[in-house]
Amino acid sequence: MTPETLSPDGLPDPLGLPPPAPPLQQVDLFALDQEGLAAQLKAWGEPAFRAKQLHKWIHERHAGRFSDMTDLPAALRRRLEAEARLGVLEVEAEQRSKDGTRKRLYRLPDGQLIESVLMPYADGRQTACISSQAGCAMACAFCATGQMGFARQLSAAEIAEQAWRFDQELKAEGQRLSNVVLMGMGEPFHNFDAVVAAIGRLNRDIGIGARHITVSTVGLVPQIYAFAELGLQVKLAVSLHSARDEERSALMPINRRWPIRELMAACRHYANRSGRRVSFEWALIAGKNDSVEEATRLGELLAHMRCHVNLIPLNPTGGYAEAPGSPEAAAAFVATLESMGVPATVRVRRGIDIDAGCGQLKSEVMRRQRAAAAAQAST
Ligand code: SAH
Repeated sequence: MTPETLSPDGLPDPLGLPPPAPPLQQVDLFALDQEGLAAQLKAWGEPAFRAKQLHKWIHERHAGRFSDMTDLPAALRRRLEAEARLGVLEVEAEQRSKDGTRKRLYRLPDGQLIESVLMPYADGRQTACISSQAGCAMACAFCATGQMGFARQLSAAEIAEQAWRFDQELKAEGQRLSNVVLMGMGEPFHNFDAVVAAIGRLNRDIGIGARHITVSTVGLVPQIYAFAELGLQVKLAVSLHSARDEERSALMPINRRWPIRELMAACRHYANRSGRRVSFEWALIAGKNDSVEEATRLGELLAHMRCHVNLIPLNPTGGYAEAPGSPEAAAAFVATLESMGVPATVRVRRGIDIDAGCGQLKSEVMRRQRAAAAAQAST
């Protein structure tokens, strides 16, 4: 009996027919680096220089379709169209804000949904805010993604592709992506290796320098030290939100594992190693962390450290009842910090008309899908 006459579970096929061919899986060429492309093309019997040609089409000439790759032989283009693809992200929903912000909800091949946002600035910068995980395990009380829980890690290619897609679109408009912040869904340092690999791809394939990339973390202390060891010039942003352990633990459960004192030591180390200011994120929550006393406590905590404080008025989310701090409270908070020598700014709220807070578009789309399903069930 030849192997072809075995059924998929290894038992003899009663009809003696070969088992059906598995569905043709398309190879994602975006997920391959130059060596990976070379290996794939070699497997297809193509000469080595074709890998370089393809790499150039994908990463330098920004071809979105194989049919645009005009110097490839027609037979190879046909094969690519049948057996390969460029990236895996499918647009599930998109919103554009009056301020130019573009917000995407992408569907991954296994059905998971992730968000990315593109924010144009008046000085010409184009910043992509991308996700590192589907969902998040950190459970910060005020965060829409934290309220959903963790689904799975993203691969390095799935992380980098979010930035690559915006860059391609901008290039078609005569612009380019200039900055990337890992401040979308997920905790980047909980997916450390894929995030580091994705940063490498942003560097090499999209041409975004480390100094134009920011990683935002809840404060996973061992990973901050490990990241410092890589010697990159990437900017570190740390979500602090309180200068008191008790309050911070209530907002961010991770603080029970890595309290403020240990986190600060890791941040100082990163600032010294990278030579870059660490950014501290502070979501202003009315009556919780927006007082002048709280600002003074924060100023004392950050004394003599090369850093910057970013205040973000709380974006209201369904699972958290508190309200944002007022503009007056924000101004007094900034003034207090500055009087203590700590630079601080209030972050301009981008795309506030389009659910552009972390995890909010996904929550909204899922709410609408549930409502539609319920309406269907009741007819
Ligand atoms: N997990 C990473 C990155 C994702 S969130 C981190 O926590 O740093 C990016 C930033 O948005 C974080 O500072 C986070 O605390 C903040 N954030 C999340 N939900 C928010 C909300 N509802 N209002 C204001 N800021 C929020």
